[in-house]
Amino acid sequence: MTHPSHDHDELPPYKRGYACIDGEFIAAAQATVSIFDHSFLYGDGVFESIVCRKRRPFALQPHLDRLEASCRYLQLEQPYTAEQLADMVHELIGRNGLESGIVRIVVSRGEGYPVSDPRRALAPKVVITMQAQPAVKRDPAQGIRLAIASTRRIPPVCLEPRVKSNNYLNHIVAKLEAVAAGADDAILLDIEGNVAELPVANIFAVRGRVLSTPPSGAILAGITRATVFGLIESGAVGLGLSVRERQMSPYDLFCADEVFVVGTGTGVAFVSTIDGRVINGGVIGPVASAVLEAYEELLENGLEPAQPTAPSISEVGG
Ligand code: PMP
Repeated sequence: MTHPSHDHDELPPYKRGYACIDGEFIAAAQATVSIFDHSFLYGDGVFESIVCRKRRPFALQPHLDRLEASCRYLQLEQPYTAEQLADMVHELIGRNGLESGIVRIVVSRGEGYPVSDPRRALAPKVVITMQAQPAVKRDPAQGIRLAIASTRRIPPVCLEPRVKSNNYLNHIVAKLEAVAAGADDAILLDIEGNVAELPVANIFAVRGRVLSTPPSGAILAGITRATVFGLIESGAVGLGLSVRERQMSPYDLFCADEVFVVGTGTGVAFVSTIDGRVINGGVIGPVASAVLEAYEELLENGLEPAQPTAPSISEVGG
């Protein structure tokens, strides 16, 4: 596949290759959206990030299902079927010639008069991009240092957390707090003070052979989380583990044998400290290690994720 740009190597990696805008493939470095786009102006849009290995998108269908649900919730009528979007994703991966990476599908309300009335946007815009991963190379032996943010996760009565919208300010403010505290990332509590999630990942705590993770109500219960449920329940992780959804307070994290976080961009990553408290001696534990290995194996072999018995992806909105 010829490359769209001669000065390819001078471009920052995220701008290389092709992007797909409304079904047309163009050089990502030249691709633009309008300054009157309502996603740019108001965050009025939704997105999905999909991990790719060996030129294959992982769990594409659950991602397309969640995208469709997010669009429906926001009454955002984008014109493509799931099959058409899947074809575009596959073509983009092929054109960009990347073995692995992250594909991002963004649906915006589209361009229109700059007023926060969705009816003034003319037509939704669908943009698909692909980046070689990872954006930040993390040493897997180095755990993630977390800080509990004072910023709480926006509750469902204010904005439904299952919608993966283009408005990430809640998450970004929490992240800024964590960075200011010298940590890598934030834990957001829900409005009641229960552990909710990270800005872009879900969290698990291990005690003995039991994994606990917050229930789906106040979080974006992710596809990686559902995949981990499936890997545990199918026995692929081994170790006689079981997993349950339950409310947790920071106490449960501080007292856990291990804590790890999961997400499309994050993969499976162990947590070394929370608010400066060292978890499992600051090293990866046997459970996080086994989950990481089973997840990597699943990605590498391009298998469909084992079907979780509970909760199903539709139940968790993941
Ligand atoms: N929570 C939030 C708020 C996220 O943005 C993400 C990343 N999509 C996740 C959790 C993890 O979800 P997934 O495993 O589907 O990437």
